[in-house]
Amino acid sequence: MKNFLKITREDLEELDNQDPLKQFGSEFNMPEGILYFDGNSLGAMPHATLDRVNKVVLEEWGSKLITSWNSSGWHSLSETIGNKIAKLVGAGDGEVVCVDGTGLNIHKVHAVALKMRADRKVIVMEGSNFPTDAYITQGLIDQLEQNHKIRFVEKDQILDAITEDVALVSLTQVHYKMGHLLDMKSITQKVHDTGALVVWDLSHSAGVLPIALNQCNVDFAVGCTYKYLNGGPGSPGYLFVAKRHQGKETQPLTGWWSHEKPFAFEQEYRPKNDIGQFLSGTQPIVALAAVEVGIDMLLRADMDCIRTKSLALGDIFIRLIKKHLSDYGLTLATPITGAHRGSQISLRSKNGFAIMQALKEVGVIGDFRAPDNMRFGFAPLYTRYTDLWDAVIKLRAIMENDTWKAGRFSRVPDVT
Ligand SMILES: *Cc1c(COP(=O)(O)O)cnc(C)c1O
Repeated sequence: MKNFLKITREDLEELDNQDPLKQFGSEFNMPEGILYFDGNSLGAMPHATLDRVNKVVLEEWGSKLITSWNSSGWHSLSETIGNKIAKLVGAGDGEVVCVDGTGLNIHKVHAVALKMRADRKVIVMEGSNFPTDAYITQGLIDQLEQNHKIRFVEKDQILDAITEDVALVSLTQVHYKMGHLLDMKSITQKVHDTGALVVWDLSHSAGVLPIALNQCNVDFAVGCTYKYLNGGPGSPGYLFVAKRHQGKETQPLTGWWSHEKPFAFEQEYRPKNDIGQFLSGTQPIVALAAVEVGIDMLLRADMDCIRTKSLALGDIFIRLIKKHLSDYGLTLATPITGAHRGSQISLRSKNGFAIMQALKEVGVIGDFRAPDNMRFGFAPLYTRYTDLWDAVIKLRAIMENDTWKAGRFSRVPDVT
């Protein structure tokens, strides 16, 4: 690559032209004039999603009615999509289901892991992680009443915190706010060396980097499909349980879909002994079908190619910010080394909220995370190299003209 300190818009046009993923861009709906950097929070809509949802509603539900549970594959859709997600995260057939939300899935796998290590009471988590993972865990601890404790640490203290009293280490692979990437392999190894179990949350990593759950010997994983997997707002999450842990301890939300014979309607609960035990009830089929469209697109792309582009987007963005915005006190919260980050760059500024609001007004959509983080997520299937240039030029104008100081940019909406 050339010296990007001298980068021009033409250089970026050239990179867009040569981009092996460029044909995917036109498969997404993107309004004219919008530069979208929030695929890490809500992925863009694939055009094919509309056709698929139409088909599920009109043909499968509208015309075939209840027969679709069998004839349209509704009854096994969680497993079908789970097997496809497995290919994205380095898992095998029958190890992943697409079901419920990320939070509920955390509840299920944490409950199982704590039962498997009943003599240990400590759970290690990253204190600054997206809080729902810890909220759910605290709720589970309260319910179990066995004196479990969460040991909160930050990223550089994780390995030291994994001691012989630890039952479970539950971490998010890429940090939602700062964007750093944890080393799944070495951390999982340390967890196992001390006799504990690991849960990886892949919400900010699946779909933007190669993940090797089985090669790393991971025990459990969860994730979300509405970010880089482009499943749509509130789409179902997924969970992974390594084959070696299936058919032993049961997850606690023992609904009829997790029963060995759901349609025998027996009074007594008998768990399935495969990944199906991690289902609980009837799933939202329209939403699940939409998830499959986003996953199918990612499966057509090469994951190494996605990672290469994701890192190049990040590197170029950092260089453009350095070159064009060095006077405005923005600092980098994300590691500068590509190997240590996911697919987002976070910039810190105490005025970050207002600056991001001003950016949105001119069509540049990223987001803000308190107290001072502006997040820019890159989705290699649809983020263009030239988008980076156009966004940085708009950001510079906002800073040069003090546009962000206008009162309307300090009003906080319900959802940031
Ligand atoms: C996005 C995200 C979630 C989402 O949880 P929901 O149950 O889908 O609301 C959970 N954990 C992490 C780390 C996330 O990034």
